[in-house]
Amino acid sequence: MPVYEYRCNLCGIRQSRLVFSWTPADAISCTGCDGVDLTRLVSGFSFHRSWGDSLNWMPDNAAADLDDSHIGSIDSHMGRMGEAMSGRVTPDFHEHRHEITNPDP
Ligand SMILES: [Zn+2]
Repeated sequence: MPVYEYRCNLCGIRQSRLVFSWTPADAISCTGCDGVDLTRLVSGFSFHRSWGDSLNWMPDNAAADLDDSHIGSIDSHMGRMGEAMSGRVTPDFHEHRHEITNPDP
């Protein structure tokens, strides 16, 4: 969500604005004084989660019932992991899952 927080360098008020990558910087004007001298603040709105972060983000007990010597257990664990990430898994997730749960004889 391209929402950024700005502080006006002229009147000092903070404001959140919806900004797209194609929005020219001088198209953003202050809601208070109409000035265009705004500084973008580091915002909590931008949100990026990598595969590694997802693993860290998962609750500690997420793998409590994982028996890694049992393929069915790994498979259901990976299924829950995918669900916990709302299906936003990396493209190779299903590939890895398939490899793990279908080892070569
Ligand atoms: Zn202002």
